Amino acid sequence: DKFNIAIDGPAGAGKSTIARLVAGALGFVYVDTGAMYRAVTWKVQQEGLRPDQESEIVAIANRMRIELIPRAEGQQVIVDDIDVTKAIRTTAITDDVSQIASIGAIRQLLVAMQKQMAISKGVVMDGRDIGTHVMPDAEIKIFLTASVSERAERRFKEMQSSGSCTMTLQELEHDIARRDQMDQEREISPLKRAHDAVLMDSTSMSIEEVVDEILGLCKD
Ligand code: C5P
Repeated sequence: DKFNIAIDGPAGAGKSTIARLVAGALGFVYVDTGAMYRAVTWKVQQEGLRPDQESEIVAIANRMRIELIPRAEGQQVIVDDIDVTKAIRTTAITDDVSQIASIGAIRQLLVAMQKQMAISKGVVMDGRDIGTHVMPDAEIKIFLTASVSERAERRFKEMQSSGSCTMTLQELEHDIARRDQMDQEREISPLKRAHDAVLMDSTSMSIEEVVDEILGLCKD
C-alpha cells in the first residue's frame, strides 16, 4: 500500500540524498521542494529582478511553468522548457532563495502545487514545511538534523569532489547558519519540527544508517 513520507530539516542535513534513496527503495516518487523555490529564484534572476521586488516576483511566479521530472539519478527541473537542474544549484541562487521563499504568495503558489503532487500517495517529499503544512497527514514524518559544522563539512566535501569549490569551510558554515536562521524566523510556515515527526540527528550516522532507520519505520 502507498503512503507519504515527509522529510524536513535545515540546510545540508542530507535530506535530498536520503529522500531519493528512500523513494528508490520503496518505488515511490521523490519530490525536492527546495528545487521549486530555487526555480523561482532562477527565473527572478533571469528577469533581472532583486529579491525584494515582491509584487513583480509574484507576477512572474504565476506565469512560469515548473516541471519536476523524477529520474533515477535525482529530480530534473524544467522552467518554461529550459532544463535548470544544474543552474539552480549555484551560490547566486542559494544567496537569494530564502528571501524569496519568505514571500507569502510564493509559498501559497508552490504549496498548492506540492499538495497536488501528494494526493496520489507514494511520495517522499523533502523541504522545510512538509510535515507541518504541505502534508500534515503524511503517514511518516522525519525531522533530520546534524550539527552545523558537520553539515558544512559535508557540503565542502561535496563541492570538492565536484570540482566546484568556491567557498571555504568557514564561509560554508556561515552561509548554512544564515539560511537556517532565515528559514526558522520567517513568519509564514517557518522551519520547525512537526509535533508528530521523528527527530533524527545524522551527525554521526552514515547515509545508509539513516535510510535503513527510515525504511524500518515504514514497516511498523
Ligand atoms: O532544500 P534547499 O536547501 O534546496 O532549499 C533552498 C531554500 O528554499 C531553503 O533554504 C528555504 O529557504 C527554501 N525552502 C522553503 N520551504 C521548502 C523548501 C525549501 O522555504 N519546503
